Amino acid sequence: MKVNFSLPTSVQLGNDIIQQSSPQWIIGFKALIVTGKHSAIASGALKDITDCLEREAIKYQLFDEVENNPTIKTCQAGAKVAKAKNCDFIIAIGGGSPLDAAKAIAVLATDVSAQNMVQNSFDTALPVIAVPTTSGTGSEVTCYSVMTREDLGTKLSFGNSYTYPKFALLDPKYTYSVGEKTTIETAIDTFSHLFEGYLSVKSNPITDIIALEGLKRFGEVLPYLLKRQFTPEVREKLMYLSLLGGFVLSQTGVTVVHAMGYAYTYHHHTAHGAANGFLMNTYIEYLESINVEKLASAMTAIGLNQSELQTALTDLLGYPPAIEAEVLKQYTKETLINQKSVENTLGNLTTEKILKLWQIQSKIN
Ligand code: NAP
Ligand code: ZN
Repeated sequence: MKVNFSLPTSVQLGNDIIQQSSPQWIIGFKALIVTGKHSAIASGALKDITDCLEREAIKYQLFDEVENNPTIKTCQAGAKVAKAKNCDFIIAIGGGSPLDAAKAIAVLATDVSAQNMVQNSFDTALPVIAVPTTSGTGSEVTCYSVMTREDLGTKLSFGNSYTYPKFALLDPKYTYSVGEKTTIETAIDTFSHLFEGYLSVKSNPITDIIALEGLKRFGEVLPYLLKRQFTPEVREKLMYLSLLGGFVLSQTGVTVVHAMGYAYTYHHHTAHGAANGFLMNTYIEYLESINVEKLASAMTAIGLNQSELQTALTDLLGYPPAIEAEVLKQYTKETLINQKSVENTLGNLTTEKILKLWQIQSKIN
């Protein structure tokens, strides 16, 4: 047996956790608060954070320019503000986009070049406190930061032991304001982390226990997603699930589903979680074709067979955007750029096999 599990993030989940755990998470003299345009305010998280900082007489500077699927350029702008204002720690509030951007800003603000950052060639970063306002990415407990790479025509992650947030503070009430579409898409992202992590070549007995527990809980919450019934109890379940997905992802990485999904997001503006959901049936068929034994236990944990799962995903997400035959080779090339995720996939994926997956995928609509 081989087990490797390391998670340097202090995690706290609960109602009013920001206030209750303050000033423990205030770990500097001046904070850069990194957010998107609206969610930090709409969720109520920004006010809770600034109230605590003001109570402790800690100064802060807001950087609210993070777009969905953030670029390195935006993160460089954030780092410039952090340096100009002498910020010594970062508080990230939002979905995966602001959380990932904050990790990049934390590195760039220590004068690491963008090139060294994306190659994981750095050993400094400002400390990050992560406050998620979606239940999906688990970014609050992973070292990964996914950047839109216009130079490569896709998205690609970086991250090492310096980019784990110091604190992950999860309050389910911050997700009450998330709309129906994003609630569903982010929940499917979580499902994808659990499912891919369980079937990753890097899975181990500990991640398997967490992933199976998460898949079981996903099966239990699925009827509520299908009814679009998002009570506070359901929101809490989704946030806990997202955390479990993050724990798994932090150890196992993701697989070809995420690597392929970035093409939907980059070229078709598909939300991240929906992109993964659109690829799930093709992925499951691939796993069946190579006789992956663990597939059966994953499906048993969810409590659905493949066709029931597919029906549920179509109900939740609809159909994927059409993909023209002439882009399949290009999408295959872009999938291979996410080399680590491809290598995490069971069954030694070759260029030809990935092209085949794209060919199958292009017929779904
Ligand atoms: P997101 O891109 O962070 O946010 C999507 C939308 O939801 C934005 O318009 C955002 O508004 C809004 N929103 C967020 N919280 C809200 C709230 N409480 N109330 C109302 N609106 C809210 O979505 P995400 O799915 O959480 O993150 C996706 C990103 O994370 C992708 O770039 C993906 O590649 C990355 N990701 C990272 C990891 C990792 O381990 N680091 C794992 C998976 C995915 P604002 O613009 O106002 O914020
Ligand atoms: Zn994801």
